[in-house]
Amino acid sequence: MKRIPYGLHCLDENDIREVVKVLKSNWITQGPKIPRFEKALCEYTGAKYAVAVSSGTAALHIAALASGLKHGDEAITSPITFVASANCILYAGAKPVFADVQEDTININPEEIKKKVNRKTKAVIPVHFAGQPCNLGEVRDIAKKHGLIIIEDASHALGAEYRGSKIGSCEYSDMATFSFHPVKHITTGEGGVVLTNREDLYKKLLMLRNHGITKETGNKKDAWYYEQRLLGFNYRITDFQCALGLSQLRKLDRFVEARRKIAEFYNESLSGIRGLALPCEYSEVKSSWHIYCVQLEDSVVRKRVFDYLRKKGIGIQVHYIPVHLQPYYRKNFGYKAGDYPKAERYYKRTITLPIYPRLKSLELNYVVKAVKEALR
Ligand SMILES: *Cc1c(COP(=O)(O)O)cnc(C)c1O
Repeated sequence: MKRIPYGLHCLDENDIREVVKVLKSNWITQGPKIPRFEKALCEYTGAKYAVAVSSGTAALHIAALASGLKHGDEAITSPITFVASANCILYAGAKPVFADVQEDTININPEEIKKKVNRKTKAVIPVHFAGQPCNLGEVRDIAKKHGLIIIEDASHALGAEYRGSKIGSCEYSDMATFSFHPVKHITTGEGGVVLTNREDLYKKLLMLRNHGITKETGNKKDAWYYEQRLLGFNYRITDFQCALGLSQLRKLDRFVEARRKIAEFYNESLSGIRGLALPCEYSEVKSSWHIYCVQLEDSVVRKRVFDYLRKKGIGIQVHYIPVHLQPYYRKNFGYKAGDYPKAERYYKRTITLPIYPRLKSLELNYVVKAVKEALR
């Protein structure tokens, strides 16, 4: 059996043809595919505006800046996420504060957010862990009450739904960001996007993507004229990446369906095994199953199972080391073990099984058999 990774992109000949077409044209960077990809993302999610950028991290960075986060402010995110969800708060000069997770979904717990809100709190950055939307209704109520901006780090949740609305629609938030890294639902190589329904944020995001520059000025007669109004970046995505994104987006629903099928297969084949807890899915949401995370009895069993599966050539992973326990966060903010007990308990016991559209049933059976062997 070839080594099985935990996640893998899914490209076909058509994707490759679309990229090559752009490479043979005169527009390889700022061409027509970028606005087309943005429009398609709006149509898919239901959001009004989209700003495609060079990575999911860049999307979080400009979203944090557009929200007005600055030195002296605090923003709240989940401890169980990729470091980028918290780093973007630091890029804006604000302080990252964490709110512990719910034990069942591993999503940020609204009750814990309430405990962390104070006068300095300006934003909440919920993460839809593993593809399952968090309790956006509750998060919105808290944000309304305290005047907070909501930026959804929706990197795991393209194609997911919350109470019948697509994640990315920003029905419950000010902005939502996605990543198009190859392990995510669709890929552009590196890439990301910020979605919003607010025109004021959209205009800021456009400038932040391109050095803080705008051509929409009072000066209409000098065609060369532009103004830099903010300190922005070069976070532009290329036209050939967007050609790939457009081609991938057409297959998104099929990809999500394939992931769901695999999750169902695991749910069935691995149910009722002592010492193995499977992920749950709430009835008010539709998960997009970015990752499939199970929990074992304790850290000793986890280590044994992890090593066994790796030895068997299965690219098992752990999502995630709690962000507050990273040396950088410990050193600069004094976070320590014990600060977020639910997150830490989860971290000690979890492993991520492979899930991606191209996984074959032969490979799936191999994984299930190996997990059972490891637990015997
Ligand atoms: C992938 C990911 C990101 C960052 O995306 P990049 O495109 O790799 O920069 C941010 N947050 C979460 C939760 C992610 O999974």
